[in-house]
Amino acid sequence: MRERRSYIAGNWKMFKGIAETREFVAALADALPPTGDRPADVGVCAPFTSLAAAVEGAEGTGIDVFAQNMSQAADGAFTGEVSASMLLEVGVGGVVLGHSERRQLFGETDAALREKLPAALEAGLQPILCVGETDVEREAGDMQRRLRQQVGEALAAVAIEQLSGIVIAYEPIWAIGTGKVASPEQAQEAISFIRALVAGRSVEAGRLVRVLYGGSVKPGNAAEILLQPDVDGALVGGASLDPDDFAAIVAAAA
Ligand code: PEP
Repeated sequence: MRERRSYIAGNWKMFKGIAETREFVAALADALPPTGDRPADVGVCAPFTSLAAAVEGAEGTGIDVFAQNMSQAADGAFTGEVSASMLLEVGVGGVVLGHSERRQLFGETDAALREKLPAALEAGLQPILCVGETDVEREAGDMQRRLRQQVGEALAAVAIEQLSGIVIAYEPIWAIGTGKVASPEQAQEAISFIRALVAGRSVEAGRLVRVLYGGSVKPGNAAEILLQPDVDGALVGGASLDPDDFAAIVAAAA
């Protein structure tokens, strides 16, 4: 049996309003085995306006609900932003931070993430920190440098005793939404490198921290990736929009 329990999280991106969220959560709860028999923890990352419906629908199902972003500030004049305490008030359990779409399309920076991680942890939210290189960086042999920078910056202000509570998702940008999945070996190599980076701060945290793979995971390719010794689950985009596909990916963690 694995020391670290697998985590399968579905990132809906900007899909699913309130009605669809209700339908999806009910269908997913039906498609999953009872909580005690699940091979992995399961979460969905919903748009802000669907969070309350997701939380309500997920009650008693063992499905965790995550937001897809959060402000580092507690409150203030930050138009369009949402704070950790606002997410908590809705009943959300965690938050995705540093997704590549936020970084590439909306200017999310490592400096902001350095503040967001401690803010989420302090509030009691489970962060899923996303990191990953572009195809240009990979081809230039820059993958490790990029991951070292992203992980180093984002975790710099996190206390040692809180490190193991973070979930990290290795999401190579060239594999997100492209249908081009990393090979199991590529996922294993990058994820064991990320684990070593965390172990550089605390050996114990390196052993316990869960590191997921994300990038074009589908029911047909999930098992071979999830079998890798350092891969502790998956962050799933496109294939998480269908409850049966998503449940099949959870089953592949067995
Ligand atoms: C994602 O959005 O985090 C993701 C991995 O997307 P996809 O599975 O569609 O590549």
